[in-house]
Amino acid sequence: MSKMRFGLQARAVAVMGVALLVVAIMVGLWLARLGSLQTEVRTLGGQLIVSLYDDQAQRQGTSLASDLAQALVNPMYYNDSEQVAQLVRALKAQPLVSYVRVFDAQGYLVHDGSETVVDYGQRLDDPLAEKAFAASDTLLQRTDHVLEVTVPVLLGEQRLGGVRVGMDLDRMRLQQAQAGARLDSGIEVVSRRYLYTGLGLLAGLLLLTVVVAVYVQRTLVHPVRALVAAARRMEQGDYEVELSVTRSNDEIGELVRSFATMSQAIARHDREVRKLAYTDALTGLANRLAFRQTLEARMAAIPDADQRLALLFVDVDDFKRVNDTLGHEAGDEVLLRFVERIKTAVNLYGGADSLLARFGGDEFVILLGDGDAATSALRLAEELVVELSKPLSLSGRDVFLGSSIGITVFPDDANDATGLLKNGDIAMYQAKLAGKNCYRYYSRAMDHAVERRVHMEQELRGAWERGELHLVYQPIYRTRDRRLVGVEVLLRWQHPQLGAIPPSVFIQVAEQSGLIEQLGPKVLRAACMEARRWEMVPGGEQLFVSVNVSPRELRNGDLSDVVVACLAESGLPASRLHIELTETAVIGDEMLAASLLDKLHRHGVKVWLDDFGTGFSGLSHLRQVPVDGVKIDKSFVADMQRDPDDLALTTAIIAMCHALGITVVAEGIEQEAQFDLLSQRSCDLAQGYWLSRPLSSTQLVALLKTKD
Ligand code: C2E
Ligand code: MG
Ligand code: MG
Repeated sequence: MSKMRFGLQARAVAVMGVALLVVAIMVGLWLARLGSLQTEVRTLGGQLIVSLYDDQAQRQGTSLASDLAQALVNPMYYNDSEQVAQLVRALKAQPLVSYVRVFDAQGYLVHDGSETVVDYGQRLDDPLAEKAFAASDTLLQRTDHVLEVTVPVLLGEQRLGGVRVGMDLDRMRLQQAQAGARLDSGIEVVSRRYLYTGLGLLAGLLLLTVVVAVYVQRTLVHPVRALVAAARRMEQGDYEVELSVTRSNDEIGELVRSFATMSQAIARHDREVRKLAYTDALTGLANRLAFRQTLEARMAAIPDADQRLALLFVDVDDFKRVNDTLGHEAGDEVLLRFVERIKTAVNLYGGADSLLARFGGDEFVILLGDGDAATSALRLAEELVVELSKPLSLSGRDVFLGSSIGITVFPDDANDATGLLKNGDIAMYQAKLAGKNCYRYYSRAMDHAVERRVHMEQELRGAWERGELHLVYQPIYRTRDRRLVGVEVLLRWQHPQLGAIPPSVFIQVAEQSGLIEQLGPKVLRAACMEARRWEMVPGGEQLFVSVNVSPRELRNGDLSDVVVACLAESGLPASRLHIELTETAVIGDEMLAASLLDKLHRHGVKVWLDDFGTGFSGLSHLRQVPVDGVKIDKSFVADMQRDPDDLALTTAIIAMCHALGITVVAEGIEQEAQFDLLSQRSCDLAQGYWLSRPLSSTQLVALLKTKD
């Protein structure tokens, strides 16, 4: 809101201001017009007054003079000077009359209204006298100060004399001026009234503008601003806004009410979404997000340096097996039962402030913060390992599972939530590596192991493309006649800095990182292509090639498609390709393995069970998973000479496999005696350093040539 805006209120005020200006201009024009009207009226009025007074003076003078002339007829005829004097004096007393002069037929003054009549009998010689004597009828003459009316005094046809009446023009002008002044003041009063009306109108309009502005402010601007402020807060994630809901029935009121309802609905949804976002749907436990927030808050609020927080990372061992073999519903059931057990244990050892969360899948995390958290964590871990390894009865079956637990302590192991969670994960992983169903404390040494693994994983990515990986071939011989019948393909990694890295190390990394899913098919294709080259060499046309396939590739599901594609691409007959699966790949998911084997068999590819005897899962697997051959692990072969039990077992395995129609291969033959023992027990095929070390392709071709 820092930017100035031309808002509603400003606009309303502007409109009102413009209206006010227009009205002011109109009122101004009107007043100006009124002013000129006033002068016009004044001029016209003045003229009118002058002519009116003039007229009146004439008429009055004429009538006064005529009346006097009439009245004087007899007195003059009879020379009644007394009467004449009386009449003249009476007239002279009139207000507007300045003089009266009566003269006889000869023009001599008879009377002038004075006491003494000084000029009696004299001829008057004032400027108007000449014409006055000569006048035979009413005559009007004027000087600057007087309007004189002369009327002859007639007796029938006889002229007795005349009357001259001087009307006082000065006096009349004074009266005119007074009348004019009255007119002016009248006009003034009227104009002022109009001016006040105009100004009143303007003031009224100004008041109206203010009232409208205030009204707009209260009914429009204020609620809209409140809405904008509320919307801003909601934008920032604060949905609990309180809006003063107006009772007004207009559109704005409606808008405010709708907004209030909407914000309440959003707030409700927000609470629901938060709840959903912070809890795990299956178990109702806190989820990763909620846990992390609590963890961060607790880390920040740790009261003193002696206080510790402990974090337990619990992962159910082999949980995937439950899902794969018994289905996801059973998996959910198992998880819920586990949660019950974990809760009981946490209640027992965790303290009131502990928090249990599910991090997805079969991962649970526990935060302990009460008292001696590190000791509580140890007790809890011991309890959990025992409790979680007890069998679960699930639809009539006993399911044995365990748990691997990693323990890490704040602030000893890490100083932030991310670091602490990572440490917990690493420690848990170490517990898995240590054989599962146990707990491990996080240590910095673990970090280095993890770092090395991560580094190796990065290096392994793209190693094939950079040509650091290559294949070697270890010959496999028929025991009966010691004839070379095939080779096992083994992957080698020559790292530019680290040198030769053994497959026992990097295959595990490739396996864990999933890289094996990309590498496996490449090895397979290259091996098929190579096998086709041997056909050029006499004796090579019969050689089979045996390729190791990791458990992960098996679970991936499209192994048979990859095999078929490689065969088609290389043109290698299916009968010359063998696939080696480890026992561990097959155990746990016999169904999947069986269906895959079935597919491979239909294409004519043989499947061998590698490292047979190491897991010793029992011979019953051989019936469930119909393999074409087993490779007796080199550890057995090595122990055979020293341990009569191993020898007996090896003998039994060979016999049983033959009974089932399964080929037996012995690997890791390092001495002639081992070879002899096995061939005596009619082991079919043999492989080992004593027979031949893994060879490069050139070495192998050379070997084939010498054989011939
Ligand atoms: P494996 O499949 O059991 O392979 C046989 C291993 O025994 C090879 O080790 C081989 O060099 C070794 N060996 C052969 N004869 C003797 C002997 O007389 N004495 C002794 N001590 N060892 C002998 P290598 O090449 O180190 O491979 C180790 C494992 O790595 C293999 O065991 C296999 O499981 C895996 N591997 C190797 N290449 C691949 C591959 O391309 N893909 C997959 N998935 N795994 C591979
Ligand atoms: Mg093998
Ligand atoms: Mg093996």
